[in-house]
Amino acid sequence: MNREELLASNRWMVRYTHTCTCDPYCLGSKNGRCGNTTYLNGGEQELGLEAVAEAMARSFKHEGIADVEVWQETDEVRDRRIAAHKRAEADEARGIWWGMGGAN
Ligand SMILES: [Zn+2]
Repeated sequence: MNREELLASNRWMVRYTHTCTCDPYCLGSKNGRCGNTTYLNGGEQELGLEAVAEAMARSFKHEGIADVEVWQETDEVRDRRIAAHKRAEADEARGIWWGMGGAN
């Protein structure tokens, strides 16, 4: 899957809790645990929740991962994300253009 296809597909997401190693403890921590929500980029969902937990431990150096939940974006969420991405790209393009204009 190339970058465009990945962007346009319904992305897989993961949410889990882990031992809070934030220093100082983060505001979201409850009984020394906090959570993370992120995208799955390596197709780990196909290998099961344990593989997902291992991938997260590797990527984020999170320990004691539990309560792993995996789901796929709905079309609505995907469309919102794509729209936000396009806006960000347009802003960036404008920024470059304005930057060049300023050099005149
Ligand atoms: Zn924390």
